[in-house]
This record gives sequence, C-alpha cells and structure tokens, in this order.
Amino acid sequence: MPELPEVQALVDFLATRTAGLATTGVELGSISVLKTFNPPPQALAGVPVDGVVRHGKFIDLDCDGTHLVFHLARAGWLRWSDTMPTTVLRPGKSPIALRVRLSDGSGFDLTEAGTKKRLAAYIVNDPSEVPGIASLGPDPLGPEFTRDVFAGLLRDRRAQIKGLLRDQSVVAGVGNAYSDEVPHVAKMSPFAMAASLDDAAVDRLYAALRDTLSAAVVAASGKPAAELKDAKRAGMRVHGRTGETCPECGDVVREVSFADSSLQYCATCQTGGKPLADRRMSRLLK
Ligand SMILES: [Zn+2]
Repeated sequence: MPELPEVQALVDFLATRTAGLATTGVELGSISVLKTFNPPPQALAGVPVDGVVRHGKFIDLDCDGTHLVFHLARAGWLRWSDTMPTTVLRPGKSPIALRVRLSDGSGFDLTEAGTKKRLAAYIVNDPSEVPGIASLGPDPLGPEFTRDVFAGLLRDRRAQIKGLLRDQSVVAGVGNAYSDEVPHVAKMSPFAMAASLDDAAVDRLYAALRDTLSAAVVAASGKPAAELKDAKRAGMRVHGRTGETCPECGDVVREVSFADSSLQYCATCQTGGKPLADRRMSRLLK
C-alpha cells in the first residue's frame, strides 16, 4: 500500500503530467469503486485540472472546483499512459477500477489486484465531504506538526505506538510499513504504550517520524509511478525483511503478529534483546 511518501510522489507526478490539461472523461471498471453519485462522472468531462494535492493517503484532483478524490488502499495502484487506449472501459471483471482521460490523449488507470476490493473514489465539491478526509489527523510533515503537537497526540493514549502511528485520525498518511520503520529508527518497542513515553522518548519518536518520512519523500520524489513500489521496498530497514539482517546492529529482523497482520522489528535495537511474545501463538497454546 502506498503511504505518505509514495502518495506524495504520485501527487507530484500527476501535478506535472496534468498541468495545463483538462479531464475529458472518467470511466468506471467497477461500479462499486465510486462511493458518491452526485456530481456524476460526467461532471468531469472537459474540465481543466487546476491542481493535485494530498490529504493523508488520499489523492485529490481539483478539476475547476469539482474534486476527483481517491484512495489506493492495500492493493490499488495508479498506471499512467501517455496514450490511453481508445476503447471505453466498461464495468466487469477488469482489474482496472477507474480510468481518467486527459485532453492530450494521456490519462491514468486505477488498478486493484486481488479479490478484496477496497479502492475508493469520490467525486465531490469539497474534499471534506469524503469521510476519511474529514476525520484525518494532522499531516506529520506539515509545518504545524511540532514536537509539542505530537506530544499532545500521545498523551493519555492507551495505545501501542505501532497502532497509534497508523491510526489515520491521529497522524495522517502513515501505514503498515512506516509504522514499523519509525519505531526502529527511534529504537523503541512497537508495543510501547504511547501514554507511558517520557520526554526523551517523545523527542526520539518525533524525530524518527519526521526524518523517516522526509527521507522517504526525497527518495520517492521525481520517480515515475511505475517505479515507486520498488523504491519503497528498497528503502525499508525492517518492514517486510523478516529473517534478514538489521542494518543497525546485525541482529536478525524478527516478526510478530499485530492486529490483522504482522509487524517486523529488531530485538537488539528495540526491545533490549528480548524477542516480543507472539500473542497469536500464545493464545493458541493456552
Ligand atoms: Zn538492530
């Protein structure tokens, strides 16, 4: 799933490619992908693209005041074409969920692999009409996201930092991958309770969050959409690297179950050398 840095790169990519163009049509490969019905897709026929911005992990094309907003979810992706096929996309079993055509013949498809269809698109007059945007927490790279603002978000939270970091209503744009990376950079257990962090730990976590995301934005910047997935994977220290070597200390990267999937961490760097107990496992053994 693309997270803040990759979504930002997609936004920058789309902003460059759509500058001076108009949308000439929006076609649906799946009826269920569009979560709104008014304005209709026809409202985006022949409308100039004024700008492309990011809200958390949402991409927002402002087309003369009508906004096409989408969220790529876990298995969604954006495929750009300088020359779009002329055949009209029809609802069916295609992995293409939505197609956008632009006035110079270029355009892009939103695709989604797998059977679980989570990719969501919205056509609205105001991005805040999208429920997932209305409930977003602050952007961790925004100028207003200070260390004290972050400390305020952690205070009194009975939540583990891994879960808190990827909660979109707390911090906008961090998902499963960077919520593994940030605790590793901060040398902190992903299971540490937010409310229990002392000032020095809050400092470390804040710096790790900002530095990790900023570096990933720089790494992703300027890359075409097709290269972003590999660039994200290549930049990971522990996420998705179970069994590999920790780049900090040489210990093995471990995995433990978390919520509906698993997380990766380094015991030497993050938990005083003690592997985390796998709750799923211990529950089975009881
Ligand atoms: Zn390590």
